[in-house]
Amino acid sequence: MDKRITVTVWNEYSEFQKESVVAGIYPKGLHTAIAEFLNKDKDIQAKTAVLADTEQGLPEAVLAATDVLIWWGHSMHDKVDDSIAARVINHVQQGMGIIFLHSAHKSKPFMRLLGTSGSLSWREANERTRIWTCAPEHPIAAGIPEQFVIEHEEMYGEPFGIPEPQKTVFISWFQGGNVFRSGVTFQREYGKVFYFQPGHETYPIYHHETVQKVITNAVKWAKPDVRVGALDCPNAQPLEKL
Ligand code: ZN
Repeated sequence: MDKRITVTVWNEYSEFQKESVVAGIYPKGLHTAIAEFLNKDKDIQAKTAVLADTEQGLPEAVLAATDVLIWWGHSMHDKVDDSIAARVINHVQQGMGIIFLHSAHKSKPFMRLLGTSGSLSWREANERTRIWTCAPEHPIAAGIPEQFVIEHEEMYGEPFGIPEPQKTVFISWFQGGNVFRSGVTFQREYGKVFYFQPGHETYPIYHHETVQKVITNAVKWAKPDVRVGALDCPNAQPLEKL
């Protein structure tokens, strides 16, 4: 039996991403670039899905066969059907792992799973970011240096509208002075959740070796421990005579 972790890399794949400013970096879309580096790992089998696909790329059968879903969205969050967002959330609560990248902080599944606004401050000014590993013992930080640099990135700054994370794995400093909790984990019922900030689409960030390593580690961390069925409320019969 194939024991590889099954990953679906979902991308809104907006028209903007097909223009040269992005397509020059990711000719087949950033979802394909992410799936390609994940597939270099013998323990991972990654496929892709985009918003324009049937059922927005996320039919029940796809989610049921997905161990870890990776989400990239920015300008089309509102185009995701409420029913599809609810379907994703349902699978996470039942055990599917999910990794939200960059601007997915404003996606419907992110805000609804965390119950907060996902708000943050931002600035697009081509600035350097230094990412600090603050939980080197965490599986997502395995093999990641104490700190690493991405030369050009969009700034995301605090305050970040999230609940207190289960673990803050990375904190980022930006050249303009801001700081940001850039790698944070949560548990939502049976499912593991990881948010990772790097990945503005006009920079080659998903070609960065250390970024690739973090996302690969995160897939391995987020894979389901168990996958349960419907989370309903069964009426329980007493085990002893009452
Ligand atoms: Zn961005």
